[in-house]
Amino acid sequence: MDDSQPRFLDDVTVELVRHSASDTDVLWAARVSTAGEQSLEEINKDPERSRGLINYLMRDRHGSPFEHNSMTFFIRAPIFVFREFHRHRVGWSYNEESGRYRELQPDFYVPGRERRLVQEGRPGKYVFVEGTDEQHKLVTEAMEDSYRQSYAAYQEMLEAGVAREVARAVLPVGLFSSMYATCNARSLMHFLSLRTKSEQAKVPSFPQREIEMVAEKMEAVWAGLMPLTHAAFVANGRVAP
Ligand SMILES: Cc1cc2nc3c(=O)[nH]c(=O)nc-3n(C[C@H](O)[C@H](O)[C@H](O)COP(=O)(O)OP(=O)(O)OC[C@H]3O[C@@H](n4cnc5c(N)ncnc54)[C@H](O)[C@@H]3O)c2cc1C
Repeated sequence: MDDSQPRFLDDVTVELVRHSASDTDVLWAARVSTAGEQSLEEINKDPERSRGLINYLMRDRHGSPFEHNSMTFFIRAPIFVFREFHRHRVGWSYNEESGRYRELQPDFYVPGRERRLVQEGRPGKYVFVEGTDEQHKLVTEAMEDSYRQSYAAYQEMLEAGVAREVARAVLPVGLFSSMYATCNARSLMHFLSLRTKSEQAKVPSFPQREIEMVAEKMEAVWAGLMPLTHAAFVANGRVAP
């Protein structure tokens, strides 16, 4: 494969790199207040009680027991998604690839056929509807042409000896970037409540589809690690405790 040729991608990557996260972490943290050091032994004694306790903590928004865990994700997504992502400040740590220290790879986002293209309604209550074939063709061609041109300009400057940190100014927000993002279940729930759209949400949100694609993949991973906590989050209207 020729690394200098643009690649056009319509999906994002989310991989769990490492974790220390389970429902028992929540129970342990919650029970220390009543069971003290014995709380660890209590965890598996009564699963129904454990489920009930997690649900109670979620419902009454006792949030801190959901912080004693950690998940590190590798995420590859367009820069415009990272701009939204990095607004989530609390309970998150980020490290992103550098455009100063390495040559940026020509991976660019082009929406897939299932991406709804047309926005209707008023701000804050947008509805997105299908684009026509012509609109999809236009979007694909306009984006690919523009990406090819800007990446060629980037390479021309690098070849002429211009520093990476200067040449990168021509690259668009549809360029893919990579980062590690570390969070805990509480900060992830806050993120999910804002960056997913769900009929089960007590407080609806209207996220951009591309960050929602990242959020959905993160939620699926997290649901596998902490199924009781995830179920309680959904059952209580997807409100972060
Ligand atoms: C659908 C949608 C549209 C958006 N549109 C825009 C937009 O047009 N322009 C724009 O700039 N942003 C926009 N945002 C970003 C939004 O304003 C938030 O910055 C982002 O969602 C992160 O939320 P947060 O601050 O609650 O998260 P975090 O930064 O993770 O904070 C978590 C919580 O900690 C508390 N907290 C954190 N910092 C402070 C503080 N300084 N003071 C007091 N309490 C604090 C709050 O309770 C906060 O909810 C949008 C977000 C969404 C979901």
